[in-house]
Amino acid sequence: MTRVLVVEDERSIRMPLVDLLRAKGYEVLEAEDGEAGLEIALREDPDAVLLDLMLPKRDGFSVLQAMREDRLTATVLILSARGAEMDRIQGFEYGADDYVVKPFSMAEVLARLAAALARKGGATPGIQEVEDVKGASFGKVHVDFEAYSLVADGRRHGLSRREMDLLRYFLRRDGETLERAQIMDDVWGPDETATTRTVDNHVLRLRKKIEERPDDPRHLITVHRVGYRFLRRG
Ligand code: CA
Repeated sequence: MTRVLVVEDERSIRMPLVDLLRAKGYEVLEAEDGEAGLEIALREDPDAVLLDLMLPKRDGFSVLQAMREDRLTATVLILSARGAEMDRIQGFEYGADDYVVKPFSMAEVLARLAAALARKGGATPGIQEVEDVKGASFGKVHVDFEAYSLVADGRRHGLSRREMDLLRYFLRRDGETLERAQIMDDVWGPDETATTRTVDNHVLRLRKKIEERPDDPRHLITVHRVGYRFLRRG
C-alpha cells in the first residue's frame, strides 16, 4: 500500500486531505508541525510527503532539506500559499517533485500526487491518469507544459510548441533508443517540410535549455548512427 505523510498545521486543510487520501486507498500518516513531520518521515520512510511550507517548529524547506540529506527518496509535493516563483524554484532545488499552491482543489492534489508517484514508478491506487500532467521534473529541470516553459537550475526558458511536443515525447519514452525517422513521424507527423535534420536542430535547442553542459548531455543522449535516447535520471 502506498504510504503518504501529510505535514500541515492547518487542521481545516489537513483533515479533509487525510480523509480523502484514505478513501482513495492510501495509508496516511499525519503531522501538525515540522519537527514531528521530519521525525515521522525519518522513522517511517513514506512513499510520498505532502508538505506545507509555513509550519510551526521547523519550516517545510528545512524538513525537505533534512529528508534529502538523509537520502529519503519519498515523492514530495509542497503545499503552500506562497506562490512566489522563488519559493517554487527553491522547492525544486531542495528536491521537491511538484508544487501545489493554496487554495487548491482536492482533485488537483490527488492528480498531482498520482502523477508524481507514477513518474517515480510508485504505485497509485485506483488512479491511472498520468498523461494529463501539467508539469514534469527530471534532474534539475522542471517543465511547465501549461506555461510553455521550463526552469533548469534556477533559470527559466521558453519553449516553442514543437520543442514542448518533442520534450513530452522523450519524457514518455524514458530510456528508449529512438530513431530520427521515428521521432520525425511521431512528433512532426505529416508535416512534409520536416527532415531528420529538423529533429537534430530541435534536439540541439532542447539541450541548450535542459542540459547543464549541452556538449556533454546527461539527459538527451546521441545514439551514434541511430538517433537519440532520453534519460530522466531521477
Ligand atoms: Ca501552514
